[in-house]
Amino acid sequence: MTESSLEKIISLAKRRGFVYPASEIYGGLSGFWDLGPYGAELAHNIKELWWNMFVKSRADVFGVATTTIMPDAVWKASGHLEGFADPMVECEECKKRFRADQIEGKKCPECEGNLGSPRQFNLMFKTEGGYLRPEIAQGMFVNFKNVLDTMRAVLPFGLAQIGKAYRNEIAPRDFLFRVREFDLMEFEYFVKESEWEKHFESWRKEMWLWIASVGIDKNAVSELEVPEGERAHYSKRTIDFEFEYPFGKKELYGLAYRADYDLSRHMKESGVDLRYTDPVSGEKFTPHVIEPTFGLGRTILAILTSAYTEDKLGGEPRTYLKLKPSIAPVKVAVFPLVKNKPALVESAREIYKNLKKEFGAVEFDDNGNIGKRYRRQDEIGTPWCVTVDYQTFEDDTVTVRDRDTGEQIRRKIQELGGRIKDMLS
Ligand code: ATP
Repeated sequence: MTESSLEKIISLAKRRGFVYPASEIYGGLSGFWDLGPYGAELAHNIKELWWNMFVKSRADVFGVATTTIMPDAVWKASGHLEGFADPMVECEECKKRFRADQIEGKKCPECEGNLGSPRQFNLMFKTEGGYLRPEIAQGMFVNFKNVLDTMRAVLPFGLAQIGKAYRNEIAPRDFLFRVREFDLMEFEYFVKESEWEKHFESWRKEMWLWIASVGIDKNAVSELEVPEGERAHYSKRTIDFEFEYPFGKKELYGLAYRADYDLSRHMKESGVDLRYTDPVSGEKFTPHVIEPTFGLGRTILAILTSAYTEDKLGGEPRTYLKLKPSIAPVKVAVFPLVKNKPALVESAREIYKNLKKEFGAVEFDDNGNIGKRYRRQDEIGTPWCVTVDYQTFEDDTVTVRDRDTGEQIRRKIQELGGRIKDMLS
């Protein structure tokens, strides 16, 4: 994968309705991207998979959904007002801003103008009602006591949420990798201090399981133990899960041990007792926290990078997305072999209607020739295409084409739903 593969991915994402530049008719907005119909569906499937895996199927994790704007006091307690800054330099000529730690020399990389001296630039967006959250963790810390009181939670347990975070990045770049508004999927797992290592290890394994189940190429992911001095201000241990993006190896996810930093700080700032009382010993203490973080945009980019494939089919070059069927935005597409035969179209529409009822993410297409329709579905990663042809009227069968091999197998119409369900599981 190279920079040119990134261009190909961006172009496919735009051309096929996954990702558009935000507010594009007004020239776009740097560091912001909109999701199109297939991107929104893909994002929804990823979030659902995550929620099912880490919240619904576990008895020890509670889901919450907290606000994106939080008062200054929260960010004072969390340390973000003081510490959430990157060193920035501004060009005296063109006024463009750059991350000081990513610039070599004293000249502007755009116009060769002189760069001013570096200053700390806080990455939080201020609004009239407070700051837009730069991380979703604080919504969980400030609700720790609420959940304890209302859910009878017993350690170890976690709070999880999926939601937007905002960072006024100095230099947004690399498509979905570094943007100013993004979704995070994250939990705070509260443990006894003496047990933090055990839970850290267990979440580390869970993160690898997730990487495989969402369809990220495992071989392109590696762990990086973040050395002291480079860790976030709250962290006593951090592992970055890095992915080989087309522009290099960079952070995909993070696993951090936040110790009792956040709860202690909030206790001090708010004056509210956030300690936990052990139900057996009666001992009162501040729980420690393990935090696995999953960026949704970086997940989508890693999935697109892993899935993007160019090959030859029947001697013709083609491009397809080898998405896991469980997260593919369209599961099945149904076609009549040709458009101008009403009986074929009618039969295909009937099959489409029934499959749509069962699977939801099903498309009907009778535009252009069949080869073009297959290519379009290949490019959006649809695992199966069903085609109604003349033989359908003789024996009630249709062809089912496999995206990856291009192979077509005849199946009875009545068996389609069952087959697809089996293949999806
Ligand atoms: P980086 O070093 O890349 O700036 P970070 O260490 O500040 O990232 P964290 O604070 O650990 O990032 O953020 C948690 C997760 O949020 C990251 O693992 C990543 O998936 C996601 N993330 C952070 N910043 C951005 C961004 N600007 N655009 C998209 N996703 C982001």
